Amino acid sequence: MQHDAVIVGGAFAGLAAATYLARARRRVCVVDAGQPRNRFAEASHGFLGSDGSDPSSILARARAQLAAYPSVTFVEGEASGASVRGDGFAVALAGGEEIAARKAILAFGLRDALDPIPGLKERWGRTVLHCPYCHGFEFSDRPLGVLYRTPMSVHQACLVAEWGPTTLFLNGAAIDSESAGRLARHVVTVEPRKVARLVGDGGALSGIEFEDGRVRALAALYVAPQSCLASPIAGQLGAAIDEGPAGPIIRTDADRMTSVPGLYAAGDIARAPHSVSWAVADGVTAGTSLHRALVFGG
Ligand SMILES: Cc1cc2nc3c(=O)[nH]c(=O)nc-3n(C[C@H](O)[C@H](O)[C@H](O)COP(=O)(O)OP(=O)(O)OC[C@H]3O[C@@H](n4cnc5c(N)ncnc54)[C@H](O)[C@@H]3O)c2cc1C
Repeated sequence: MQHDAVIVGGAFAGLAAATYLARARRRVCVVDAGQPRNRFAEASHGFLGSDGSDPSSILARARAQLAAYPSVTFVEGEASGASVRGDGFAVALAGGEEIAARKAILAFGLRDALDPIPGLKERWGRTVLHCPYCHGFEFSDRPLGVLYRTPMSVHQACLVAEWGPTTLFLNGAAIDSESAGRLARHVVTVEPRKVARLVGDGGALSGIEFEDGRVRALAALYVAPQSCLASPIAGQLGAAIDEGPAGPIIRTDADRMTSVPGLYAAGDIARAPHSVSWAVADGVTAGTSLHRALVFGG
């Protein structure tokens, strides 16, 4: 059976796109490996009507609502590859099956690589965080930190300082005098020492220990992970990919169509910055643009 659309990745962007296509009575197949990027967080913040909800419950509710539409099929598992096939696309599944569709949406998200500092990975999404808008209010006025990774970390530290007293941990790196001046204006303390590990019970954070054995109290540490596309499928299909401040970004136009006609991309893989709300908005744009292309051509 040929679907109108196949969606690779069925979390926030993918399910939003699928919902609009389902409501337009189109045959849509959602292939999802079940590993949304925020699965490490106990609560997702800022998404209208779901502020503070467990991310998996938001997705489960969306999936259940989508499943009520008769033209939707779900495939649980990973798409292993994709190719342009005639006027459409073929998405290969790990078991050897193929999903054929007239158009496709990529919504497979990013994968984060974290600094190999002991104690950091275990606290990801709980007290080691990527974004103060998502996870800042909960740590208001407590000692906050930013781990230096790139010059953008200076900007991140100046922003985080809005939520509480902030230290930029250089971890042995150096910053220029302009950055130092900017940090001073935003009342950010600069700590040059090399970090040995993070300390605290379970997912909580009580401090950051330096290589000299001293510990500084800390409630939350913000980091900018090195991110990569979770799947090579965009490259396999020939879509143009740019390098953004937080990792690769699949190039799209205002309709969220990639450089490959009929192929759309939505969510974290096609934008910066990242959030559930933006991923959902992009999914809606991709889904409705794809639908209009089915109706009017393009
Ligand atoms: C720790 C953490 C906490 C966060 N907290 C918040 C928050 O509080 N509020 C907020 O707004 N944002 C938050 N974010 C950002 C938010 O998680 C992302 O912006 C959002 O998940 C992006 O949605 P997406 O649909 O683009 O991608 P994802 O959520 O990453 O979903 C991609 C989906 O595609 C699937 N997939 C990948 N490869 C394949 C494949 N080959 N075949 C099939 N399926 C595939 C994945 O398994 C996954 O289910 C947080 C991010 C992190 C890392």
